[in-house]
Amino acid sequence: MRKRVDVLVIGGGIAGISAAARIARHAETVVLEQESALGYHSSGRSATFYHFGIGNDCVRGLTAASSDFFADPPADYADGPLWTEKPALFIADQASLSELEALRVEMDRFIGTVTRVGPQRMLEIVPALKTGEGGIVAGLLDTGGRKLDADALLQANARAFRKAGGTIVFDAPVSAVARAGDRWEVDTPEQGYSARIVVNAAGAWADELAGMAGVRRLGLQPLRRTIIGFAPPAGLDVSGWPFLKTVSEDGFYMLPDAGLLLASPMDVTPHDPCDVQPDDYDIALAAWRVEEATTLQVSRISTRWAGLRSFVADKVPVAGFAPDAPGFFWLAGQGGYGLQTSPAMALAVEALMFDLPWPDQLSRQGLRAEHVRPDRLYRTVQATPSDN
Ligand SMILES: Cc1cc2nc3c(=O)[nH]c(=O)nc-3n(C[C@H](O)[C@H](O)[C@H](O)COP(=O)(O)OP(=O)(O)OC[C@H]3O[C@@H](n4cnc5c(N)ncnc54)[C@H](O)[C@@H]3O)c2cc1C
Repeated sequence: MRKRVDVLVIGGGIAGISAAARIARHAETVVLEQESALGYHSSGRSATFYHFGIGNDCVRGLTAASSDFFADPPADYADGPLWTEKPALFIADQASLSELEALRVEMDRFIGTVTRVGPQRMLEIVPALKTGEGGIVAGLLDTGGRKLDADALLQANARAFRKAGGTIVFDAPVSAVARAGDRWEVDTPEQGYSARIVVNAAGAWADELAGMAGVRRLGLQPLRRTIIGFAPPAGLDVSGWPFLKTVSEDGFYMLPDAGLLLASPMDVTPHDPCDVQPDDYDIALAAWRVEEATTLQVSRISTRWAGLRSFVADKVPVAGFAPDAPGFFWLAGQGGYGLQTSPAMALAVEALMFDLPWPDQLSRQGLRAEHVRPDRLYRTVQATPSDN
């Protein structure tokens, strides 16, 4: 017997669970996750930072619209803030000074916490930086940067979801999705479901899931990104160091976390959806870029991992009903900002799914439904053989 529900959310990452927490206020909702815990894939492998040095206007708008939630989440989610203060320092060498200035202009449109800093101030903040000729010459310090906690965020959303009556089913890989009358039939090994609405929050697998359902794909591209962790020199307290990021994309970022320094070479390697593992080259590149820009020696790498960041063509996350498939709701393309934009995207999902007024928090940031709805992509995506 198929279990009948209103809404089935496929994917228990941050996108799926944060949307589900809002959907469950209106409809009986089940989340299906193929793994045995929330956030096993991208959501559990991120740098978990909140900042405005990434993405375009829409992404920055979604980030800004999410801040109230992180600072003061509703009581059904968590009892206190879901972030801690952690400034961000964006650094530039001589060749990337124009990029630094362009970033300042972009960030100033959304926040008033950014100041330009010179070598002396940067050395006070991160004494290991190589500044001066041939090195880092200028930076932008954003005191509004914040460290998120991915697990706390996933659990807060799960708590609100369950309080609203929702159910999460783990170890439930969806193997078939088919339209039957005015409903969707969804198969997992243990149980079949019949749902009025299916939400495709399958992360890097979202296009594959659409193909399974006979729905036109969005042209989603997963990109692998690597993080290493290494111990700072003995006796050096790095806990107060900021999230440090080169303004040029062929650099690195680094931040202190639980006694280690985490660093990424900001790799962007196209990859098929899978339980992705780090590549030796990217691990070495991370260490090399840290050593090039700082006086730190990465003598032993204590931890390493990789995750997938999945983008559509315009790099703006997608939420909305598929124009070619009634009841099939897209929630994909969260790229490298799926955690920091998740509260705003969940609001967008709720409004679009239940035809509610567009949320003020989003309008105030200049965001409209057209910015996130999938329709915008259909003009540019090529049909593939497995599309209708
Ligand atoms: C190295 C790295 C650093 C990052 N840093 C940041 C950062 O600092 N700040 C930030 O905001 N974001 C960051 N991100 C991006 C962020 O992690 C992602 O945007 C976000 O996690 C995407 O969430 P998701 O729910 O779409 O994907 P996922 O977390 O991958 O969730 C999708 C889920 O769908 C499930 N699934 C797939 N197919 C099926 C199926 N057939 N049946 C059942 N379940 C299925 C998967 O098991 C998975 O759990 C980073 C990402 C990486 C890789």
